[in-house]
Amino acid sequence: MALLDIEKLVGTSCRLCPRNCKLNRNIETGLCKTNNKIEIASFNLHFGEEPPISGNYGSGTVFFAGCNMACVFCQNYPISQLKSAYKTIDEYALADIFLELQNRKAHNINLVTPSHFVHLICKSIGIARRKGFNIPVCYNTSSYDKPEIIEYLKDFVDIYLADLKYADNDLSYKYSGISDYFEVATKSILKMQQTKGHLSIKNKIASSGLIIRHLVIPNNIGNSKKVLDWIASNIEHPTVSLMRQYFPAYKAFNYPEIAHKLVNYQWNEILEYTDKLGIDGYFQVA
Ligand code: SF4
Repeated sequence: MALLDIEKLVGTSCRLCPRNCKLNRNIETGLCKTNNKIEIASFNLHFGEEPPISGNYGSGTVFFAGCNMACVFCQNYPISQLKSAYKTIDEYALADIFLELQNRKAHNINLVTPSHFVHLICKSIGIARRKGFNIPVCYNTSSYDKPEIIEYLKDFVDIYLADLKYADNDLSYKYSGISDYFEVATKSILKMQQTKGHLSIKNKIASSGLIIRHLVIPNNIGNSKKVLDWIASNIEHPTVSLMRQYFPAYKAFNYPEIAHKLVNYQWNEILEYTDKLGIDGYFQVA
């Protein structure tokens, strides 16, 4: 797919992501809550990612405003859902941010929630590379991406930090407003694996490959087990980042079963299940 084609997916009828809004983002905002200009909430060195991503000097993280999902428990909801503070910038300014973070010794550029701006981000990566940008690019995504976009990204992205949130589409619809999450996300993750392979680490820092992230949601342990089953059956030697930092935020209080933190026994059950499946990776401490 040539660069022109990815731009055509936006054009006057946006089909950039699986939402397929078919809206003219030059004059309207799609379900991602953004139009056709880059909007960032913040950028900085970030030290809270997985060890080979943050390293000693930090991950050069850029938080994009908006999101193509609508998770009721989103922990970034002021940025992703409410867009309470953001700045509109062009592709050249984003390229300058990449270069600034590289100059600050970031191990990588970490694009948080990039899917709805991916066509513009690729332009920025190209601009930055022509000015000496050479650190790995991490695509930090919900995985609700079109597989053909992931194929296209093989020349732009080195590392995927890819969520697999749900194996149950009733849940993805209930909590995120998406009825085909599992099919789409798993196809995209398989494409990530195919194009970038296993996680490659040099001198304790990730250089390429795939980390699959899963946030364990309270009282949905069956979903987490199905997610882990899929990973164990479909990805050879996966690197999984299991996250237990769930706390109720945004609209989660409207759902009693997720209106509190994860309890230890549920987390421990998932850890035991992960162990039983022989899955390796990064598991947060209780
Ligand atoms: S990128 Fe935004 S406007 Fe385009 S299809 Fe996805 S949600 Fe809709």
